[in-house]
Amino acid sequence: MMRWLLIAAIVFIAWRLLTGRPLFPRHDDPASPGANDRPSDPQPSDKGAEAMVRCKHCGTHVPARKAILEGDDWYCCPEHRDDACR
Ligand SMILES: [Zn+2]
Repeated sequence: MMRWLLIAAIVFIAWRLLTGRPLFPRHDDPASPGANDRPSDPQPSDKGAEAMVRCKHCGTHVPARKAILEGDDWYCCPEHRDDACR
């Protein structure tokens, strides 16, 4: 039993190291090194491709975190969501 827990912990740590993420991420800690290198950059461009979704109404591709999810469908703006629901 303990062996499986150990293996799971090793796999978890290895995965975090391989993906380049800190083991214990801090949220916007100003004391962390490198936090002030780019003070006004809301979109980190070196984190790889961001998930894009397609607006069901107009077909525009928008970042998932900026899109609006209604049921199973994505929309680029509230107006298109409202038009599609009408
Ligand atoms: Zn749209």
